[in-house]
Amino acid sequence: MIVVMLGPPGAGKGTQCELLGEKLALPHIATGDLLREAMARGTPLGQLARPYIERGELVPDDVMINIINEWLATPGHEHGFILDGFPRTVNQARALDQALARVGKGVDRVIYLSVPVEELLQRIAGRYVCPQCGASYHLRTSPPRQSGYCDQCGSTLTQRPDDRREVAERRMAVYFAQTAPVIDYYQKRGVLSEVNGAQSVTAVLDAELAILLTLPSRTHTRTDRHGDPSQI
Ligand code: AMP
Repeated sequence: MIVVMLGPPGAGKGTQCELLGEKLALPHIATGDLLREAMARGTPLGQLARPYIERGELVPDDVMINIINEWLATPGHEHGFILDGFPRTVNQARALDQALARVGKGVDRVIYLSVPVEELLQRIAGRYVCPQCGASYHLRTSPPRQSGYCDQCGSTLTQRPDDRREVAERRMAVYFAQTAPVIDYYQKRGVLSEVNGAQSVTAVLDAELAILLTLPSRTHTRTDRHGDPSQI
């Protein structure tokens, strides 16, 4: 099963992709995480992406399309995968369709997480991450036990530089101008399902699973309570 997670910054795509990936035993890629790692390591990709990310703008399509094509060409994606943060433009969506069509596949379902803008900005403002182990926290909904420090590894928590209010507002504007048309693109293809992302994490996950597990069966897998992948 090939799933795309779509939604504005702060909608909860990252959290939901992690959880869905576990439940469905599917690998996932988060293009934002991949770019941040490249920036932290100072690779040529990281150097290229940094100014765009710091301004809250999109990294050029050709760069992102190459990244996804390379990822798709690596082993481990035969039974499907979940995309978080890609596609973000209609061009990227078309390129993904073309790449999948070449191997006789297509996007099975797009989950669009919708959340009101004011709620998104509040969520982003309270979001803190651990630079060491990647754990994420929210000052309002999931604060760390000791303020400012990671529960898992004790490191000092930081805010993503692009989560600062002015950059977050720019990201939101870029989302509405460039990514929102992707919703339309998938709606016309009949593969879009909207989920209310303003609910609790578990309610959102349940709604997504209800959609994905009732899809007409291609070859998708799920894990039972004990973690064994089983064909359904
Ligand atoms: P995210 O963590 O998904 O919010 O992504 C953080 C930033 O990475 C975005 O604001 C963009 O600058 C960049 N980025 C991530 N994915 C893409 C993409 N598919 N196309 C263009 N830029 C991207």
